[in-house]
Amino acid sequence: MTKTTREVCSLEVSRRDMFKVAAGAVGAAAIVGLTGSEVLAQSRMAKTAAQYQASPRSGQTCGKCTNYIVASSTCKVIDGTVSANGWCSLFVAKA
Ligand code: SF4
Repeated sequence: MTKTTREVCSLEVSRRDMFKVAAGAVGAAAIVGLTGSEVLAQSRMAKTAAQYQASPRSGQTCGKCTNYIVASSTCKVIDGTVSANGWCSLFVAKA
């Protein structure tokens, strides 16, 4: 091999290594994303622990709470679906 050939071979190996690193990084990101979702899902509180009820309390409702997710009728902090007319002890009024 001439010096030029060695340099080319070295460059090809380097590219291969870069692809391996890139593929590993994508795989690791996918794993971290999945784990993050699972952690988020498991970190929500049970309705009973938050004293959730399907009716308003003192004019406060899930629909008026900053934790309410309208599109899915879910809550950022309580597990499962919730009613827009429901309420729990973690109510936080929308600003
Ligand atoms: S925190 Fe409580 S009041 Fe607010 S949306 Fe969730 S369940 Fe409803």
